[in-house]
Amino acid sequence: MKIISQIDEFRQYRRVLNRNKIGFVPTMGYLHDGHLSLIDKSLEENQATIVSIFVNPTQFGPGEDLDRYPRDFPQDRQILEARSVDCILFPDSDQMYGANYATFIEVKKLGTVLCGKTRQTHFKGVTTVVLKLLNLVQPTTAYFGQKDAQQAIIIKRMVADLNLDLEIKVLPIIRDDDGLALSSRNRYLSDQERQAAVLLHTALSTAQNRIGEGREDSSALKKVIKKILKQNRLIKTDYIEIVSLDHLEPLDKVDPENTLVAAAIRVGGIRLIDNFILGEI
Ligand code: AMP
Repeated sequence: MKIISQIDEFRQYRRVLNRNKIGFVPTMGYLHDGHLSLIDKSLEENQATIVSIFVNPTQFGPGEDLDRYPRDFPQDRQILEARSVDCILFPDSDQMYGANYATFIEVKKLGTVLCGKTRQTHFKGVTTVVLKLLNLVQPTTAYFGQKDAQQAIIIKRMVADLNLDLEIKVLPIIRDDDGLALSSRNRYLSDQERQAAVLLHTALSTAQNRIGEGREDSSALKKVIKKILKQNRLIKTDYIEIVSLDHLEPLDKVDPENTLVAAAIRVGGIRLIDNFILGEI
């Protein structure tokens, strides 16, 4: 397995990588089974798999947890080596954003709702780094998690709008046994906070069951979610939204083919997101 930190060296590696199907999984590291579901899919479907590990500073706002974001490269490396991943692209910030860096990619509208309301520059940072990584790696398929549904939707829009020649695949959310969606940030939850965090999944799956029973009024469904989140005073709700999957526009009623039900909460200092969808991203 190659580990490459220098952009020039990576370009050289990629130039001679003579494979028809190249899978790419961009991550911020501190790998868990959610990341591994994407990596395993890529290994299954491609002749080479490249994983990037880069905690991207431009997607963190002022006062967010860039410095505190968990990192453990030796462990990540071991995990990826055991799976026979072909290459880890592991650049540092200076490699990705040189002194005169000035170019950003922004997907209008889609990046301003849901998480974009409180994290106003977040998606601009995400699309910029993802486009840079796609330009470097030139994969035939890139893999993303539904855990970050808004991110996946925005990236698909960018890929279509900019005529990028690759396929984007979005894979299901991987959860712990108690239902909590896996996230690198979960390690910062105390036992009490974790108990509270699980309510996010409980609330969303209760709403999903209600939909299964034929309830489709968005404001009633949001109330169901809100009520459950209110059960624990450690939870501060950031948003609960029911929007269309394609345009992220609010829906009065769920559409069985085109709905994203998403919520973000804060528990202690940790921001957690989760969602379910009707239809396909
Ligand atoms: P991150 O390292 O948090 O930037 O995530 C890298 C990729 O892994 C993104 O496409 C995420 O959506 C995906 N991912 C993170 N957590 C999960 C999860 N619990 N299940 C599935 N995919 C995930």
